[in-house]
Amino acid sequence: MAIGDRHQRTERSIIGVRKGDTVKVMAGRDRGKSGRVLSIDARKNRVVVEHANIIKRHTRPNPAKNIKGGIVEKEAGMNASNVMIVCPSCGKHTRIGHTILPDGDKVRSCKRCNETLDK
Ligand SMILES: [Zn+2]
Repeated sequence: MAIGDRHQRTERSIIGVRKGDTVKVMAGRDRGKSGRVLSIDARKNRVVVEHANIIKRHTRPNPAKNIKGGIVEKEAGMNASNVMIVCPSCGKHTRIGHTILPDGDKVRSCKRCNETLDK
């Protein structure tokens, strides 16, 4: 295993969710909403969830940079501890467990139904 891989794995384990996962927002203004994870900032421990924590950004037109003025709606990130992964097997939000497969691979699993969360 390359050193880079191990570094990534460490970052992942802090957050648990990954890009593309479906998560449910457990806290904050958009509590109860669910959506896909659009991006992750492991260093800041933040995730950006589709349709959740939308901010309106008022932009000033800047013709030199071809930016139109107006209000842009954009997902703002939230702390990773405010979201929980939604299990594709049982459809409920769950804590993430870890299962070691017979071939030695470690996968994330659902604490409720023990199904694997990774394809
Ligand atoms: Zn499950």
